[in-house]
Amino acid sequence: MTETYAVIGASLAGARAVETLRAEGFDGRIVLIGAEHHLPYDRPPLSKEVITGRKQPHETLIHPARFYSDNDIELLLGTRATRIDTATRTVELDSGAALTVDKLLLCTGTAPRRPDIAGLQLDGVYFLRTMEDSIAIRDRLGHGGSLVVVGGGLIGMELAAAAVTLGTAVTVLERDSGLLRRVLGAQVGDRLARWHADRGVCIRTGAEVERIEGDHRVRRVCTTDGFTAEADVVVIGIGVAPATGLADDCGIAIGNGVIVDEYCRSSVPGIYAAGDIAEHPDHLLRESIRLEHWQNAQNQAIAAARSMAGNARPYREVPWFWSDQGDTNIQVAGHPRSGDRTVWRGDPESLEFSAFHLRDGQLVGAVSVNRRRDVRLAMHLISQRTRPEPALLADPSVDLRSVVDGTAPAPTP
Ligand code: NAP
Repeated sequence: MTETYAVIGASLAGARAVETLRAEGFDGRIVLIGAEHHLPYDRPPLSKEVITGRKQPHETLIHPARFYSDNDIELLLGTRATRIDTATRTVELDSGAALTVDKLLLCTGTAPRRPDIAGLQLDGVYFLRTMEDSIAIRDRLGHGGSLVVVGGGLIGMELAAAAVTLGTAVTVLERDSGLLRRVLGAQVGDRLARWHADRGVCIRTGAEVERIEGDHRVRRVCTTDGFTAEADVVVIGIGVAPATGLADDCGIAIGNGVIVDEYCRSSVPGIYAAGDIAEHPDHLLRESIRLEHWQNAQNQAIAAARSMAGNARPYREVPWFWSDQGDTNIQVAGHPRSGDRTVWRGDPESLEFSAFHLRDGQLVGAVSVNRRRDVRLAMHLISQRTRPEPALLADPSVDLRSVVDGTAPAPTP
């Protein structure tokens, strides 16, 4: 009997999962279900290269169409899974059809958080999640004018950096007392905020949006402290929530996402989850985490597909992500947190520096600005639970490779 494996969510994670199922030798039926009409594509360019026109939508595809036909992977695009019956292993679709599966992988990702304010329905107000969103924003910004970004996180600041290069007047409204603080920490976030301000981005922190105003089109955004920003386009990037509805409805255990083990198995046998939706055990922290980044979407999906194909290996990675904001490259590895001891390498003023995070002497995280190599080497040290000498980390004349391979000189007192 030929088995059927289905993947719900035709994004990076879904594409890597079906690719891996075939690579691992699964020769049964594979069905990839996706609500969007596009072939699986990469999302990082949506807030950058697609906005500036440096990448066209077709250049973001994970695989060309031929890949799926060559590998006998059925694509059900523009199709939503509406219900999972765990007893009969049936996936109901919004087309009215149903699919009986032997194993199922959930890669449903996240959905943007929506603030509870008036004016979200106005023409020109966007959430940046899909290719359609990105193209619509690009086309609007192409005519100059003003952009208000609500939320000074990764989407907001990548978009702000891209939009100023188009000559757009950009205002960022962030509720926190600084930008990017949750992901990069206060010091790095504040340094980058100054960099954005120097490039002409108007930044207001401690700003709570009260309402968005307009006629049929958006005209302005008003905050609770009486500030008003004129806007031709508004983009809201205030975080995301895991799309757990399908899993929740059929009784799969949910925490801060679909709870899975190291092999990406959910609480229901035969059902797996990977990517932004999956809450999984982190081998370094020894606690459950959920990650919302590209590396995890790709690699956890690969791990899940290996488990499904009978070649299970525990998913153990050092978390890593990057963010390109204009020509500034930011990379983060591990689990940096605000209470850590921070060791600086390079001068933050130069905008070429790294912040190494030590917890009880152990390297647990690194945040780098325009120093990609530091992060690559730090990932190695983090995975080995190393306790590097802070003076060696701080000294830019010490090659970090020598810290990795243990040949670094003793620090001078
Ligand atoms: P995000 O990075 O979590 O940032 C959201 C920001 O909005 C936070 O600074 C948050 O502040 C602020 N905020 C929340 N509510 C607000 C409000 N009512 N008014 C003003 N500001 C508010 O989320 P995102 O930028 O929306 O990105 C969405 C997801 O895509 C995230 O998971 C992100 O990691 C991912 N993404 C990743 C990359 C990358 O890896 N390079 C790039 C883009 C997006 P508080 O922290 O105080 O709530």
